[in-house]
Amino acid sequence: MGAMPQEVDLIKMEMNIQAEETIGERTFFSGSLNGFDTVLVFSRWGKVAASSTATTLLDKYKIDFLLFTGVAGAVDPILNIGDVVIGKKLYQHDMDARPIFPRFQIPLTDKLTFSPNEIHVSQAEVAANKYLNNLQSDISIEILSKFSIVHPKVIRGIIATGDQFVTDTQAHEGMHLSDSEKAQAVEMEGAAVAQICEEYNKPYLIIRIISDKADHSATIDLNAFIENISNHYSRGIALEFLSTLQNNITEKANEKIESWKIEDPSVLMT
Ligand code: SAH
Repeated sequence: MGAMPQEVDLIKMEMNIQAEETIGERTFFSGSLNGFDTVLVFSRWGKVAASSTATTLLDKYKIDFLLFTGVAGAVDPILNIGDVVIGKKLYQHDMDARPIFPRFQIPLTDKLTFSPNEIHVSQAEVAANKYLNNLQSDISIEILSKFSIVHPKVIRGIIATGDQFVTDTQAHEGMHLSDSEKAQAVEMEGAAVAQICEEYNKPYLIIRIISDKADHSATIDLNAFIENISNHYSRGIALEFLSTLQNNITEKANEKIESWKIEDPSVLMT
């Protein structure tokens, strides 16, 4: 699932598309990507839109893994434009049903935050680092330097999701989970998709590319960033991630074959 039509367009070119279906204004492309049966779709923006898209993927297409990519604003000052945040913890910064429930708690659950499987987070981290190590083979130095992307990094981070496009650094302080757990990136879909996946008991990952610093300049280069940078990142990281998964599956299969080998065939002769 991509948060931008431009990212979906690039990934689509890598896919062998077998079917296309529009449901509720969302077009779902089914086919294969890097050997995996895949359904590709633009999330649309905001929590409601993205969770509805996720529900269709889970319910109708019966996906068994949801990979989300998109752009986000940086809240943590260590993050620069072009860095990648793999969500290790996500929450809805605008969920506030006090005094009925504690701030951030999702009604009817005891959850304040959502956390994807750590193994997948690690695999995504490896995949994103691999992509960034070869970034210049995908995006020219001229374009990278236009956005001052020099040494982009990957972090596992805390992502705050809400139905606001944040353009004011004063808003950052009020959205932290706690004094010890501060939001590092802000966006509009991740924790909603995470909620739905956890309710359906399906694994997922939220990967965000920092497009802005969630300040007054957040919208200035956003479209240029999406058209020149983040669409490439999303495709590159998704493909690397699928290769990592494929290698893991192959390794596991080999381990299984190894474990089937009978050390002493005479045990079968009785
Ligand atoms: N290209 C669009 C902009 C979409 S902005 C246009 O100009 O029409 C909405 C997307 O940006 C969402 O996916 C949201 O998650 C992400 N995003 C990026 N920076 C953000 C910020 N500072 N605050 C909130 N969401 C942000």
